[in-house]
Amino acid sequence: MAMTLAEPKVKVDRAWQMYIDGKFVDGGSVRELINPADGKVLCKVQEGTAEHAKKAIDAARKAFDEGPWRTTSASDRAAMLFKIADKIDENAEELATLETMNGGKPLREARYDMADAAQCFRYYAGLATKPSGQTVEVPAPSVTSIVREPIGVCGQIIPWNFPMLMAAWKLAPALAAGNTCVMKPSEYTPLSVIRLAELLHEVGLPEGVVNIVLGAGPTVGLPIAESTKVDKIAFTGSVKTGKVIAQAALTNLKKVTLELGGKSPMVVFSDFDVDIAVDYALFGIYCNAGQVCSAGSRIVVDEKIHDEFVKKMAERAKKIQVGPGLDADTEMGPLVSEAQYNRVLEYIEVGKKEGAKLLCGGTRAEGKNLEGGYYVAPTIFSNTKPEMRIVQEEIFGPVVVIQKFSDEKEAIALANDSQFGLAGAVFTNDITRANRVVKAIRAGITWVNGYHSTFNECPWGGYKQSGWGRELGTFGLDAYTEVKQININLEPVAVEWFKN
Ligand code: ADP
Repeated sequence: MAMTLAEPKVKVDRAWQMYIDGKFVDGGSVRELINPADGKVLCKVQEGTAEHAKKAIDAARKAFDEGPWRTTSASDRAAMLFKIADKIDENAEELATLETMNGGKPLREARYDMADAAQCFRYYAGLATKPSGQTVEVPAPSVTSIVREPIGVCGQIIPWNFPMLMAAWKLAPALAAGNTCVMKPSEYTPLSVIRLAELLHEVGLPEGVVNIVLGAGPTVGLPIAESTKVDKIAFTGSVKTGKVIAQAALTNLKKVTLELGGKSPMVVFSDFDVDIAVDYALFGIYCNAGQVCSAGSRIVVDEKIHDEFVKKMAERAKKIQVGPGLDADTEMGPLVSEAQYNRVLEYIEVGKKEGAKLLCGGTRAEGKNLEGGYYVAPTIFSNTKPEMRIVQEEIFGPVVVIQKFSDEKEAIALANDSQFGLAGAVFTNDITRANRVVKAIRAGITWVNGYHSTFNECPWGGYKQSGWGRELGTFGLDAYTEVKQININLEPVAVEWFKN
């Protein structure tokens, strides 16, 4: 097939700086970002040190303690969030192109992310002005009202797989509630978030309310997690780093939310249409080249349809058009970095050594326009055993493992045999069984006869080692508030506890 690369309309050869206290600043060192589609240098980005993290925290502290943000009315904050959403929409094509050039994902996926990010700001703009308190009848003559207040300065550390979306999921509820933020995007994919900072500046967000620091996790991320001037830390990323963050947050017992890894099961019963199940399975694992925390990376399939299912899935997986994200024909892009590419290929070797059967893929993807890029062919392993590393560990790439079950009890046991509990799905036409199995799956995000649909209105987060707390929905706003009770004595008279 003739492949013509769209000429990028976005200029990346420009200054990419941190955003601290309302100013775009250099950090003193420079990182070369690599285009994952060809392995070549894409552009240079300024990076900072612990000192810059400290400055950003001080700016956020000042903006919270003295600044106007906390005391703005909810409707003013909502108006600002609506403006941000409009700005994202106006610049969506540029932001999506940046996301694709920087992280590798197909442009059609990046466009979807931008629309979703704008919608996230709109959702929290709407929620900002909705009643969130209660009044409680307590013994007269007093009344108690329960109100929610912002937590304060929020550190927000985000990963490379959905940079703009993760920024929206964290900034929108934090700002809606009246907090101030210090965000650190991944050192691999900061571009869309820096561009977002420029848009925040354009719409007139007061200085210090959102600060963006750039650099490696241990250099600028850890100081945020450790700082006693930060009141909350929100993190999305690996379990390993999540544990470091939780530990670091103990300095001042800051509030912590963590959205971590997964090894999410798709349970397919034999009464369900095999072709439709295969279609969802492909979507579940190969979307964003499997670099999705909720990827359907384990398929637990009824033995009655197992052979037909794996044959059909492998046939279709082989046909997936792998290529540069900017190519209009591309269905699956490269992995984000050389490190991730190597890691995924290593896992494939582990799977082979463990004795799983490789049905397709298992190598670098070859083809026109793929030279130098971090492409891995869509890979399927069957004949797996539950104790295999490829079944238990998160690979974070286009690699899926198939597990076979003979009855519902075994299906549930296999689905739950995991340290993780982020997502899970069941495919069956039997509504009673669907209800039984979906309730038995120990995970925070579950689907019946579907996969991956994510709504700003609904909670997102995991059981077990998939994290702490929830993002999105009203839960996401709650996670950025403290709860205060205010008891008002309606008839003050002396309490006379002490006689003299
Ligand atoms: P991955 O290994 O897939 O890159 P991480 O969980 O390490 O995932 O990265 C997610 C985010 O956490 C990134 O922004 C990264 O820079 C940051 N990070 C990594 N290590 C640390 C650390 N020790 N302290 C704080 N942040 C970190």
